[in-house]
Amino acid sequence: MKYVVLLLIVALVLYVMSRKRAAPPPPPPAKPPPAPRIEGIVACERCGLHLPRSEALPGPGGELFCSPAHRDAGPPG
Ligand SMILES: [Zn+2]
Repeated sequence: MKYVVLLLIVALVLYVMSRKRAAPPPPPPAKPPPAPRIEGIVACERCGLHLPRSEALPGPGGELFCSPAHRDAGPPG
């Protein structure tokens, strides 16, 4: 009876070892997220305030302004 228990323990150890060896490899690391898009900064033609290009208001001559008031006022001078 003692040998039967010993045999069962050995079989269990061998079974666990074989399962560990057959484990699938870990998944590859996830791709890093894409770098955030860098937006250009422009200066208001009227007051010189710096703001993102997407928030700037284009003037009639292609200039960029920070607000409708400065766009309507136009460039200084
Ligand atoms: Zn301005």
